[in-house]
Amino acid sequence: MSAVGLDGIMRAQERIVDRVRRTPLTLSSGLSSHCGAPVYLKLESHQLTGSFKLRGATNAVLSLNTEARQRGLVTASTGNHGRAVAHAAKAEGVPAVVCMSALVPTNKVEAVRALAAEVRIVGRSQDDAQEEVERLVREEGLTAIPPFDHADVIAGQGTIGLEIADDRPDTELVLVPLSGGGLAAGVASAIKGRLPQARVIGISMERGAAMYASLRAGKPVPVEELETLADSLGGGIGLENRYTFALCRDLLDDVVLLSEDEIAEGIRHAFAAEGETVEGAGAVGIAALLAKKVDVRGPTVVIVSGRNIDEILHQQIVTTGSNAGERDR
Ligand SMILES: *Cc1c(COP(=O)(O)O)cnc(C)c1O
Repeated sequence: MSAVGLDGIMRAQERIVDRVRRTPLTLSSGLSSHCGAPVYLKLESHQLTGSFKLRGATNAVLSLNTEARQRGLVTASTGNHGRAVAHAAKAEGVPAVVCMSALVPTNKVEAVRALAAEVRIVGRSQDDAQEEVERLVREEGLTAIPPFDHADVIAGQGTIGLEIADDRPDTELVLVPLSGGGLAAGVASAIKGRLPQARVIGISMERGAAMYASLRAGKPVPVEELETLADSLGGGIGLENRYTFALCRDLLDDVVLLSEDEIAEGIRHAFAAEGETVEGAGAVGIAALLAKKVDVRGPTVVIVSGRNIDEILHQQIVTTGSNAGERDR
């Protein structure tokens, strides 16, 4: 039995069902008329902690043995993965340490503290924080839950695919935000297992798309990290990638890249037409449809992966039509 195949995803669903929200799948009338086929939004922006990452983190925490639970968890993420790990640990009564550099802004530090995680300030860079994580794993036996390249994490994210297949068995296309590929690998495994005719397409930004570059190269490659509105999609896939590279290579039908303006348009549409506050990474599926960058042939599901965006940035985008990427051009 494979932990990242359909059976592993079904076991993950049983494990996490009482801990995460079953998020709504809602018809978008605007996108449906734009595309000439029914388009549904899978609103993981309504998930507890504001992103789908809670599914994978919760499945990973619930899969730990008693000893590992007693020693606790550690992560260096201050973004959606860090929130998810802190929340999942608290829900199970497992201690969690979040290592961050002295340069992390106070509001982010407080947000992590509010989730009852211990904050450890180390050094002046993300690399320093990551080194402290590795030290705590080595010397104190804490468990680090990786953000994407981990079987239990992938299976947890895959539960979104099961919900889509249950709610809309006529789905022909699923659009998935793509960074390290935990979400895409899990969802594609579930969708291809349950709805073999359906296509699954990954969506990334033009600025620093690590999985796209790696798929083209035929192996994991490093990419330069660039500032982007889809900040949750930044970062590499790991040169020692174990699972997500092969799964994305074998299961995704295509990968589409978007400009910063297109992503901004997705955020604006989500707010103005759908009434949803969505972060850049969460808006890329909507943006790809608006930009006509995917070929829609039938009922389509867009995974809206998260809502955690800086309020001021969001306001700028939805009111003035400007976007942060413009500074770089
Ligand atoms: C992490 C994240 C993604 C990308 O997930 P991967 O598993 O790394 O591909 C997409 N959207 C949001 C909001 C995220 O937090």
